[in-house]
Amino acid sequence: MESIKSTDYWVHFEDVAYQRLNEYLTNEFCSNLFVLVDSNTRQFCLPLFLEKTNLTDRIKVIEIPSGEKYKNLDTSLEIWDELSRSGADRKSLVINLGGGVITDMGGFVASCFKRGIRFINVPTTLLSMVDASVGGKTGVDLGALKNQIGLFSSPEMVLVDMDYLRTVPDREMRSGLAEIIKYGYTFDQNLWAEIQSYEAIDLEKIFPLVHRSVEIKNNVVIDDLHENGLRKTLNFGHTVGHAIESYFLENENKIDLTHGEAIAIGMVIELYYSSRVLGLTDELAQELKEFVLQFYGSVDLREDDFDPIMKLMIYDKKNVSGKINFVLLDRMEHCEIDLQLSEGMIREGLEYFVL
Ligand code: NAD
Repeated sequence: MESIKSTDYWVHFEDVAYQRLNEYLTNEFCSNLFVLVDSNTRQFCLPLFLEKTNLTDRIKVIEIPSGEKYKNLDTSLEIWDELSRSGADRKSLVINLGGGVITDMGGFVASCFKRGIRFINVPTTLLSMVDASVGGKTGVDLGALKNQIGLFSSPEMVLVDMDYLRTVPDREMRSGLAEIIKYGYTFDQNLWAEIQSYEAIDLEKIFPLVHRSVEIKNNVVIDDLHENGLRKTLNFGHTVGHAIESYFLENENKIDLTHGEAIAIGMVIELYYSSRVLGLTDELAQELKEFVLQFYGSVDLREDDFDPIMKLMIYDKKNVSGKINFVLLDRMEHCEIDLQLSEGMIREGLEYFVL
């Protein structure tokens, strides 16, 4: 698979990725090498990474617990402490080996430490391969509010090795697929056409979709790194999705949703808004709703949940001057950004999903 050039770094795939990493480490001075892992990626990914890189003697491992609830400033502080105690200096390099939580937080931590040290992303979940590890957004959550603290900062490179996916739990694979579906609706309907027939995820089949997704994301990011226009289209499904994700995270009576599960629900609801406001054909929302319910399973969302979810939408970082901004479609591969909806319409979409 061909490497993909992003803004100021490359995304490399499979064996080439390790060759480029070795070249980098030979050519660029790194005083210390840190690998940031969570408890799962330490167990499932670190052995493979060390086997493919021969870096066992050079690296220091920093481990954090796994899960979105640790993507916060407290964990960041612990990582900064550990970097400091281990003598990290401005020529140190952090390798983020993990899913989106690790690449988001590792990028953030590295970018703030001593005003910024270098980092490399090695995504190990489908979601982080196709989305979180590329595009330069780094950050952590603030309480239940997603990604409220963070900055744009580029990795030195991104290494995509599909071998890591072999141990990813099925639920997490399905989570990643939601972001590929998003690229399908917003940029390349062939992706959705391919996925629509899936009952399970086949690793061999998914590889070209991963490459295409990274290509799409990079094209968007190159055009609009700081999300002033085109990049906002990648938030399709996320205004509603992030609010639902946060709500389930902070509510003890609910089982946490994965990021992708929440975004999949968000896309169904935002397709509904699209049909009501922009005249998108009704079938598209219905088709995705059926797929989501069958592929991701039913979700415990009720009328009582609507008010707190709508409240959370107000905190979305895409909002300006207190307005809730939506990305809606008037047809496949064609979005309108910065749209506002009435409270009644927002509620109607949530009702549409639970009916
Ligand atoms: P995650 O990092 O929590 O990983 C999901 C689970 O899989 C975790 O339990 C993790 O320990 C485990 N895991 C990771 N790799 C594994 C492997 N190879 N084998 C077995 N288990 C493995 O979550 P995620 O879904 O990868 O990422 C979600 C995060 O990404 C969210 O915080 C979201 O906000 C962020 N995100 C960021 C961007 C961005 O542009 N920066 C884009 C999309 C999502």
